[in-house]
Parts: sequence; C-alpha cells; structure tokens
Amino acid sequence: MTIPTCFSPTYSAITPTPSMTKLAMVANAAVQAGYAQLHDPGTVDLHLLRRLHDPRYVDAFLAGQEPLASTPGWDWTAAIRDGVLAINAGQLAAARLARAHGIAANVGNGFHHATWAEGADFCTFNGLALVALAHPDWRVFVLDCDEHCGNGTASFTPRLPNLFNYSICGTEWDYLRNERSRCHRLPPVTGEFESYREAMREAFACALDWRPDLIIYQAGADPHQDDPLGSLHLTTQQLLERDRWVFRFARKAGIPLFFVLAGGYQKPIETKLVPLHLNTFKAACECVQ
Ligand SMILES: [Zn+2]
Repeated sequence: MTIPTCFSPTYSAITPTPSMTKLAMVANAAVQAGYAQLHDPGTVDLHLLRRLHDPRYVDAFLAGQEPLASTPGWDWTAAIRDGVLAINAGQLAAARLARAHGIAANVGNGFHHATWAEGADFCTFNGLALVALAHPDWRVFVLDCDEHCGNGTASFTPRLPNLFNYSICGTEWDYLRNERSRCHRLPPVTGEFESYREAMREAFACALDWRPDLIIYQAGADPHQDDPLGSLHLTTQQLLERDRWVFRFARKAGIPLFFVLAGGYQKPIETKLVPLHLNTFKAACECVQ
C-alpha cells in the first residue's frame, strides 16, 4: 500500500536552510520508491489563519510587510508565502486523509515554533495547532520528535482545549508546560538508546490516556548524529526504529495518524537528508502491509 500524501510543487521554495527547498526532492523520491501517492491540497482558508494567529501578523506575512513578514528567520519572498499557504492546506487535507485511511502524510513542515503573535525559527503559521482549530470536535495529539521542542505548539494549548502537545527533544527553550503540554528533554543518546525508548513509552501512555481522535507526528530528521543543528545523535537505524514504533503504536491503538517531515538540515540535501525522510515513508509502508 502507498501512503496518501499531500504535496504540490508550490510547497517548495528557496530557503537558506533546507526547510522548504527539500520538499520537492522528498516527494519525488517517495513517489519513485513506491511509498507515496500524491494529493494536491489546494490552498488554505485565510480566515482560518486569521483566527489561528494575530490577524496583523497574518496580513503582514501575506503582503510581505516588514518586520513581521520575516520573523520566521528568512527574508520574506512571495514563493515562501505561497509555499507556506499550500503546506498549511496540506495539513488540513492530510488530517482528513488520515481519518479516512488510518494513515497519511504531508510533505511539509508543522512549523512548530510559530506562536500566536509571530513566526520564529523557520516557522510561519503553526500547522499543527491549525488542525485542532479547524476541528474543534477532534482531540488532536501532536507527537513532536523533532530535535527542537515544539514551543510554539505548546503556546497554543491554552487557546485550544482539544490540542495536546508532547515533545521529545534534545533542545528546549521557552516551553510552556501544562496538563496538555509535556516536554521530555533528553541528553545525547548513546548505545542502545534506552532513554529514547523510555520517552516514547511515556508519550504513548499519555496518548492512550487522553484518547485522541488524531495523532500528528513530527518526524524530524534533525535528531540525527550528523545534523548541524542536532544534539541527540541518533543513528540512521535508530531514527528508522523510532518511526516504526510510532506507526505500530498508532495502528495497534486504532488512532488515525499523519506525519510531517519537520526539521533536518544536512547537506547535500539529496544524499544526506532525503534518505532520512524517505525512511519515514518506508516505516509507514511497512506498518500498513
Ligand atoms: Zn528542529
């Protein structure tokens, strides 16, 4: 079985980091490997974005007005804007596909550092909180396994009572903890990586206890040992095992799940980074066969 996967060529834009540059490469590789069937998500309802974020930030980003337009950390371009809108449409479409098929993907970013008032750290509009806003009748559990904590998503939990954020990270800053926002920061992983396994078990137990209608998995590649922004030092095989556990857990629990790529900063993108993201598709396909 292939994974229903949201993507359009509009997603890809030139960014100083691989964040949006890598997306077309990953989508093409996933199709060529027989892992993904692509769905074009169209664009996102701008009124929904104005409800999610400060409308002044949304309108500044749409119009390219500085300084807000470049708060994500890149110089604003129209291509980045259009890509961000399409990726957020993909978050909503992937959520629907996951509910219909059990599993789905969005070849985009969750933009987990974005807060209500502005973007931050290569993140524009928070596409994880967006799903919870769009579906107030669903309990949305974000399992964030990026190297960096999902502090932006955490900051949305007081606004969205149907949103739970669980971060397993190596790098933490400004993280709001509450009954629906947890953060498990780990030191560099070595050997058998039992500490990471334990963090995963705790996250799964937490999800089971909260009984979500949907899991969004941030399958970051930046915890990898060769990533310039990483500290967790996971091997390629350990990242693959991490992905397998997540997909097996969701399937066994009967909880619909979709994944997004999240971080990953190695270059050359084609040879160092794409294979890591492709492994997430591989693990997803293995799980549904
Ligand atoms: Zn990251």
